[in-house]
Amino acid sequence: MKERDEKSRKENKPTYSQKSARQIRYEVMEHYCNGIPHCVCCGESNYMFLTIDHTNGGGRKHRQIVKADRLPSWLKKNGYPPEYRILCYNCNNATGLYGFCPHELDKGIDVSEKIKPYFRYLLEG
Ligand SMILES: [Zn+2]
Ligand SMILES: [Zn+2]
Repeated sequence: MKERDEKSRKENKPTYSQKSARQIRYEVMEHYCNGIPHCVCCGESNYMFLTIDHTNGGGRKHRQIVKADRLPSWLKKNGYPPEYRILCYNCNNATGLYGFCPHELDKGIDVSEKIKPYFRYLLEG
Protein backbone atom coordinates (compact mmCIF):
# COMPACT_ATOMS: atom_id res chain seq x y z
CA MET A 1 0.00 0.00 0.00
CA LYS A 2 2.68 2.45 1.02
CA GLU A 3 4.68 1.54 -2.06
CA ARG A 4 1.73 2.20 -4.34
CA ASP A 5 1.11 5.62 -2.78
CA GLU A 6 4.71 6.52 -3.31
CA LYS A 7 4.51 5.41 -6.93
CA SER A 8 1.36 7.35 -7.72
CA ARG A 9 2.75 10.43 -6.04
CA LYS A 10 5.82 10.28 -8.25
CA GLU A 11 3.72 9.75 -11.35
CA ASN A 12 1.28 12.52 -10.58
CA LYS A 13 3.78 15.21 -9.77
CA PRO A 14 5.21 15.92 -13.24
CA THR A 15 1.77 15.70 -14.80
CA TYR A 16 0.52 18.33 -12.41
CA SER A 17 3.35 20.81 -12.93
CA GLN A 18 3.21 20.29 -16.70
CA LYS A 19 -0.47 21.09 -16.71
CA SER A 20 -0.04 24.28 -14.78
CA ALA A 21 2.78 25.46 -17.08
CA ARG A 22 0.43 24.86 -20.02
CA GLN A 23 -2.33 26.76 -18.29
CA ILE A 24 -0.03 29.73 -17.76
CA ARG A 25 1.04 29.61 -21.43
CA TYR A 26 -2.60 29.62 -22.50
CA GLU A 27 -3.41 32.49 -20.14
CA VAL A 28 -0.50 34.53 -21.52
CA MET A 29 -1.63 33.92 -25.11
CA GLU A 30 -5.18 34.86 -24.21
CA HIS A 31 -3.91 38.08 -22.72
CA TYR A 32 -1.91 39.08 -25.82
CA CYS A 33 -4.82 38.19 -28.12
CA ASN A 34 -7.54 39.78 -26.00
CA GLY A 35 -9.38 36.47 -26.07
CA ILE A 36 -8.99 33.25 -27.97
CA PRO A 37 -5.30 32.75 -28.84
CA HIS A 38 -4.57 33.24 -32.54
CA CYS A 39 -1.76 34.35 -34.83
CA VAL A 40 -1.90 38.16 -35.09
CA CYS A 41 -0.54 37.91 -38.64
CA CYS A 42 -2.58 35.20 -40.38
CA GLY A 43 -5.27 34.43 -37.82
CA GLU A 44 -4.23 30.81 -37.32
CA SER A 45 -6.09 29.71 -34.20
CA ASN A 46 -4.85 26.17 -33.79
CA TYR A 47 -3.24 26.51 -30.38
CA MET A 48 -0.61 23.89 -31.17
CA PHE A 49 0.75 26.08 -34.00
CA LEU A 50 1.12 29.18 -31.87
CA THR A 51 4.21 30.67 -30.31
CA ILE A 52 5.13 33.78 -28.34
CA ASP A 53 7.12 36.25 -30.45
CA HIS A 54 9.29 39.17 -29.39
CA THR A 55 8.25 41.99 -31.73
CA ASN A 56 11.59 43.75 -32.15
CA GLY A 57 13.63 40.64 -32.74
CA GLY A 58 15.16 40.62 -29.29
CA GLY A 59 13.83 37.15 -28.73
CA ARG A 60 17.14 35.43 -29.19
CA LYS A 61 18.90 37.68 -26.74
CA HIS A 62 16.08 37.41 -24.29
CA ARG A 63 16.04 33.63 -24.53
CA GLN A 64 19.54 33.57 -23.07
CA ILE A 65 18.14 35.19 -19.95
CA VAL A 66 14.72 33.54 -19.81
CA LYS A 67 14.44 29.97 -21.06
CA ALA A 68 11.67 29.36 -23.60
CA ASP A 69 9.69 27.12 -21.28
CA ARG A 70 9.87 29.75 -18.54
CA LEU A 71 8.84 32.63 -20.83
CA PRO A 72 5.06 32.42 -20.20
CA SER A 73 5.41 32.58 -16.42
CA TRP A 74 8.08 35.28 -16.78
CA LEU A 75 5.73 37.39 -18.92
CA LYS A 76 2.91 36.95 -16.44
CA LYS A 77 5.14 37.87 -13.51
CA ASN A 78 6.39 40.96 -15.34
CA GLY A 79 2.95 42.32 -16.12
CA TYR A 80 2.83 41.25 -19.78
CA PRO A 81 5.48 43.47 -21.46
CA PRO A 82 3.93 45.01 -24.61
CA GLU A 83 6.78 44.04 -26.95
CA TYR A 84 5.47 40.49 -27.23
CA ARG A 85 2.80 39.10 -29.55
CA ILE A 86 1.37 35.76 -30.61
CA LEU A 87 2.35 34.31 -33.98
CA CYS A 88 2.03 30.88 -35.55
CA TYR A 89 5.25 29.03 -36.30
CA ASN A 90 5.04 29.87 -40.02
CA CYS A 91 4.74 33.61 -39.48
CA ASN A 92 7.26 33.52 -36.65
CA ASN A 93 9.83 31.72 -38.79
CA ALA A 94 9.33 33.95 -41.82
CA THR A 95 9.59 37.07 -39.68
CA GLY A 96 12.69 35.73 -37.96
CA LEU A 97 14.40 34.74 -41.21
CA TYR A 98 13.37 37.56 -43.55
CA GLY A 99 12.30 40.38 -41.27
CA PHE A 100 8.73 40.29 -42.58
CA CYS A 101 6.02 37.75 -43.23
CA PRO A 102 4.79 36.99 -46.78
CA HIS A 103 1.27 37.55 -45.44
CA GLU A 104 2.15 41.25 -45.24
CA LEU A 105 2.36 41.22 -49.05
CA ASP A 106 -1.12 39.70 -49.25
CA LYS A 107 -2.42 42.43 -46.98
CA GLY A 108 -0.93 45.10 -49.23
CA ILE A 109 1.53 46.28 -46.57
CA ASP A 110 4.55 47.96 -48.14
CA VAL A 111 7.51 45.71 -47.44
CA SER A 112 9.67 46.96 -50.32
CA GLU A 113 12.44 48.10 -47.99
CA LYS A 114 12.42 44.87 -46.03
CA ILE A 115 12.14 42.72 -49.13
CA LYS A 116 15.06 44.23 -51.07
CA PRO A 117 17.82 42.04 -49.66
CA TYR A 118 15.74 38.96 -50.46
CA PHE A 119 14.28 40.02 -53.77
CA ARG A 120 16.82 38.06 -55.74
CA TYR A 121 16.28 35.01 -53.61
CA LEU A 122 12.52 35.21 -53.97
CA LEU A 123 12.71 35.63 -57.73
CA GLU A 124 15.14 32.81 -58.22
CA GLY A 125 13.31 30.61 -55.76
ZN1 LIG B 1 0.42 33.06 -38.78
ZN1 LIG C 1 2.06 35.75 -41.53
